[in-house]
Amino acid sequence: MNEPRRHRQVSFEFLGTGVSSGVPVIGCNCLTCTSKDPRDTRLRCSAALRFGDDRGEQRTILFDAGPDLRQQALRARLERIDALLFTHNHVDHTWGLDELRRFNTLMEGPVDIYANDHTLAFLRRVYAHIFDAPSNIQPSYVATVIPHRLLPGVPETLFGLRITPIPLLHGKLPVLGFRVEAAHPTVAARMGIDELLPLAYCTDVSGIPPESWPLLEGLRTLVLGALRPRKHATHFSIDQAVDAALKIAARETWFIHMNHEVRHEPVDRALPSGIRLAWDGLVLPRTRDDERDQSEWARGWLE
Ligand SMILES: [Zn+2]
Ligand SMILES: [Zn+2]
Ligand SMILES: [Zn+2]
Repeated sequence: MNEPRRHRQVSFEFLGTGVSSGVPVIGCNCLTCTSKDPRDTRLRCSAALRFGDDRGEQRTILFDAGPDLRQQALRARLERIDALLFTHNHVDHTWGLDELRRFNTLMEGPVDIYANDHTLAFLRRVYAHIFDAPSNIQPSYVATVIPHRLLPGVPETLFGLRITPIPLLHGKLPVLGFRVEAAHPTVAARMGIDELLPLAYCTDVSGIPPESWPLLEGLRTLVLGALRPRKHATHFSIDQAVDAALKIAARETWFIHMNHEVRHEPVDRALPSGIRLAWDGLVLPRTRDDERDQSEWARGWLE
């Protein structure tokens, strides 16, 4: 599905908003999996933040790289990845790493990737052909990356943005969310990012530790995982995500990582104001024109 694209100084695009299996689920004939609403088709979770940096250069920061990255990059017309931030090691968030080789070619250099120790250890083990390329039987076209270690709560400054890893719990697994904001308030106005940032990207979450709540204060935009109506051991249910979102009180909240028990239209309609389900291809910030275009665009398949 393609909504009309507008020129924006800064944009945050949802490349995928689905559960680890994606939606539709293979072999499933439920109402969501057979829905004609394009918002019920969800690739694995990933997002791209595109902006002009403090020197006016175009930059793209990618959040996670799942198995659908190739398709997502084509659809969103990604032409560069200046930094790739990993939330955690699960397959639905990491198995697009091989696709970075195309960005190596486009950008004529390695891609900087950022993750915590647990995720970096996983990547080194699974992607030995990338991290230990000299051991490959023969030279071959594999991705080239520069790994950077993230520590929970310790910010990184990237291209004029301050990115703070937020400690979160995904069942028993400590994972990261990311708080993204201007490194300096004066830069925020120049970069035109006031209407989007501060933004927090928190995908696979079942618990927010006490020390992380201050990192979720004063948000313009919250992106939060909400798996399904029923409770789950390692993900917020819709109700739990609503409770967390109301407590965090961002200006707007968008849910991601939904499974096929979540049919977009009825579930989205029932959410409190300021909280909505995201969909693949959604671009923030939304303007009134975007909302109008969407209702025209939606007319064809709603009903
Ligand atoms: Zn996931
Ligand atoms: Zn289904
Ligand atoms: Zn996960």
